[in-house]
Amino acid sequence: MSCNCEQSRYLELHQSAVVADMHCDGVLKIKKGLDYSIRNSDDHMDIPRLKEGGTDLQVFACWVATDTPPEECRPKIDELIDSLESMVRQNPDDIAICLTADQADSIIGQGQIAAFLGIENGVAIAEDLGNLEHYYDRGIRYMTLTHTASSDWCISSADTAPAFNGLTDFGRAVVWKMNELGMIIDVSHASVAAVEQVLKYSKAPVIASHSCVHALCPHDRNLSDHQIKAIAAKGGVIGINYFNGYISSRWNHVLDSLYETRRAEIDSLDEYFYGNDSLRRAALKPIWDDIKAKLDTIEVTVGDVVDHIDYIVKLVGADYVGLGSDWDGVFVMPIGLDDCTMVPNITKELVARGYTEEDIRKILGGNFMRVFREVCGSA
Ligand SMILES: [Zn+2]
Repeated sequence: MSCNCEQSRYLELHQSAVVADMHCDGVLKIKKGLDYSIRNSDDHMDIPRLKEGGTDLQVFACWVATDTPPEECRPKIDELIDSLESMVRQNPDDIAICLTADQADSIIGQGQIAAFLGIENGVAIAEDLGNLEHYYDRGIRYMTLTHTASSDWCISSADTAPAFNGLTDFGRAVVWKMNELGMIIDVSHASVAAVEQVLKYSKAPVIASHSCVHALCPHDRNLSDHQIKAIAAKGGVIGINYFNGYISSRWNHVLDSLYETRRAEIDSLDEYFYGNDSLRRAALKPIWDDIKAKLDTIEVTVGDVVDHIDYIVKLVGADYVGLGSDWDGVFVMPIGLDDCTMVPNITKELVARGYTEEDIRKILGGNFMRVFREVCGSA
């Protein structure tokens, strides 16, 4: 009979380590009514599956679109926080909200999941630092400054014709206010110039909660070696996003060429159904289903994800990388990371590559916990 020591070793390590995931969009599904207390068959996560995969701390990002009218931003974020709080109230034995790293430690120590509240897209503050204070008071402990389109004060990585250099004066005021409050600044989605300015002006370490390595997959959402070194030099941490599109340049190449062949059809349907989103989506669905079926033939695996972790470790050491899945925020995950039950596969791969237990514990969650403790305090 063959020995399964290797198998049990990685599982024991995974179970005993603090596993912290720095980004997901699950709260949007919670708001739509997804029952988190039961195991669902679609989507990426719920409480039973988070427990099965050994996740100890999960960041839930409350997101608003960049074109949200300013007066609607605060009610929308409040509503998302309300939904998350209500899910937590309904599952008091399984999950609790953490405001500090010490609280997270004690929640995790009781065998529960620590829910960490974040905001994705600084548009949420509607250019009012008072809203930042309000969100902090409601439990928000990080904010991603921008998203896929620039705001009036922070340039997005997707912006090819930026109207200003990274951050405006107000953007700098946001950075300082977040420092003052003890809220972690998240530079995922920010442009190169914006990241540079945040690192220059922030008095505290910053994170990139769900980004990957540009040298392995050249995408505007990914970080250059220079950026990785600068985030590390400031004591921050980078959460690796599992989305195929940020992990694999092969996958992206195929997506680009498939999109190019269907572009005329997509553009004409976009134009024809302009202003009616549900009809537009229905009309485009067969095309996207076809593209997705073809993309499924491109094999991206958990090993490709660990390549990104490995790259950062080789560049700056094991203290500056972590997990930033993007569960329920992206549509295609690698083979072996289909949902949040499969996080132990990352530990398995790190063990197979000869990582020490100490380094694996840092990568799985220790590094994020260090930044959480340093920036948000222990009060
Ligand atoms: Zn995102």
